[in-house]
Amino acid sequence: MRKITEIILHCTATRPNDHCTVESIRRYHRSLGWRDIGYHYVIYQDGGVLPGRPLEEVGAHCPGHNANSIGIAYVGGIDADGHPSDTRTEAQRLVLLQLVKDLMEEHPIISIHGHNEYANRACPCFDVRQWLSENNL
Ligand SMILES: [Zn+2]
Repeated sequence: MRKITEIILHCTATRPNDHCTVESIRRYHRSLGWRDIGYHYVIYQDGGVLPGRPLEEVGAHCPGHNANSIGIAYVGGIDADGHPSDTRTEAQRLVLLQLVKDLMEEHPIISIHGHNEYANRACPCFDVRQWLSENNL
């Protein structure tokens, strides 16, 4: 297993009623010439956690930070009007927190960041620093 020291959080930048699944993301990312879906986990609105790219493989979700990180994306991030928004459902919030906690136990995680801390983007459309402090992470 490669050394994993960081978790980077994303959204899929899709609207509430968009069809967005691991398979549709995988198709899209492959259409960009990537060999597989860029994220390691995708969290559906109902709280389902779907595996994406295998953890032992370097992801493609945050240029310059992929080698030692895990990329997690929740489905959503854009409201019905097309604006960036924290659209996480209660189930997604609960499951995201648990997944991060579990990964912290399994890997020597040093830091957790939102994609927007590394790129000029809204992703993941919520304040990860505030979320971390609210949850004592
Ligand atoms: Zn992102």
